[in-house]
Amino acid sequence: NLSEKLDSVFKKLRGHGVLSEDNIKQTMREVRLALLEADVNFRVVKEFVATVRERAVGQEVLKSLNPAQQVIKVVRDELGRLMGEGEENSLDLAARPPVAIMLCGLQGAGKTTSCAKLALQLRRQKRNPLLVPADIYRPAAIDQLKTLGKQLDIAVFDSQPDRDPVLICEEAQRYAELNGYDTLILDTAGRLHIDEQLMAELVRIKDSLQPREILLVADAMTGQDAVNVAETFNAQLEISGVILTKLDGDARGGAALSIRAVTGKPIKLVGMGEKLDALEVFHPDRMAQRILGMGDVLSLIEKAEAAMDQEDAQRMEQQLRQDGFTLETFRDQMQTIKKMGNLESILKMIPGAGKAMKQMGNMQLPDKEMKKIEAIINSMTPRERRDQKILNGSRRLRIAKGSGTTVQDVNQLMKRFGEAQKMMKKLQKMGPKGMKNLMGR
Ligand code: GDP
Ligand code: MG
Repeated sequence: NLSEKLDSVFKKLRGHGVLSEDNIKQTMREVRLALLEADVNFRVVKEFVATVRERAVGQEVLKSLNPAQQVIKVVRDELGRLMGEGEENSLDLAARPPVAIMLCGLQGAGKTTSCAKLALQLRRQKRNPLLVPADIYRPAAIDQLKTLGKQLDIAVFDSQPDRDPVLICEEAQRYAELNGYDTLILDTAGRLHIDEQLMAELVRIKDSLQPREILLVADAMTGQDAVNVAETFNAQLEISGVILTKLDGDARGGAALSIRAVTGKPIKLVGMGEKLDALEVFHPDRMAQRILGMGDVLSLIEKAEAAMDQEDAQRMEQQLRQDGFTLETFRDQMQTIKKMGNLESILKMIPGAGKAMKQMGNMQLPDKEMKKIEAIINSMTPRERRDQKILNGSRRLRIAKGSGTTVQDVNQLMKRFGEAQKMMKKLQKMGPKGMKNLMGR
């Protein structure tokens, strides 16, 4: 899986203090292999790697990021750019009604389902859509759309299966005009493979109805194939955008990445499930993040940098390395952690830590709570702080009395601390250098 692959690449990267040109080369070689394995189009990979390498090598190392972080940032930015970050990708329906939206694509890609999903979405935007079944080749296709329409209480044009699909669409258009439907959603036929006869039919529908949007429906699970399909449909029909379906399944980002790059057409919507409300706007930045699978590393870096100066970070790291994560280091770091927001929100952003956090429950430390914790830890002897295993009942009672808290408070802190300790062990598996890089050098 691409996310895991890149994750391991970046783990290696984080381990390096200084990044040389060789490091970048080596890293980009691995990124290249990872992308190829995730079914990203080879032309896209080639271009991607070249761009990132050029940017990473040519760039002066920013003061706020170390070289490894900087390469990660370039990779992420470039992924986002490739998928159309910052570009307009909403549907353009600004035309005299009825506005036609034509969905096309191979059989099984999710056209009929997406037509229904789209109709539901448009109705929620106060439009009045008419669904038009124009797939007369599969006997059940018309019924499928009728059933979906009934389910959503959205009108479906009564297409006759023995008529030419172009005529059906023209009739539907007239029907919409007469009956006050402002949007036509055309569910066209698909084939198992690209087929000239089908293409010719789609071109005729296009020429006759002049749809405002021609959306290719592509199955994200088919990876590289989806890219070839997109290229062909775009060449023949000049599509206006893509609906990428089945992104709820296997998390490979290969198709999303390549389709946009190869066709130059934006992914406008994504299908996130079989349910009829599972159609979402496409977010390039989120997809880039998902492909990288590295949590929100960059904003973690930013947060940490804002709150911590280098000395703090060094002291913290050295202390952790020397003593491990003890109650004493915990207390000393609490102020820093407070500056960075709550511990949970920090840990959540670290790759792989999200799941562990969920099991751990809420670890928020409000001010009052912080003071209590500090008081409890202050009432312990140095030995107790280093080894909480010796904290028996009578010691806990003494600590509670000394800190003006209850034994329950002490117990609760110990429980929480134990969980935090487990978490730190996980983080430290990334290695001290990895920690250091994450926390800002
Ligand atoms: P068509 O041949 O292109 O019209 O494809 P259909 O709309 O009939 O869909 C084919 C299958 O894919 C159906 O079983 C749908 O439920 C399923 N499907 C469509 N979109 C999605 C999606 O976004 N996620 C998932 N998991 N399944 C989908
Ligand atoms: Mg269909």
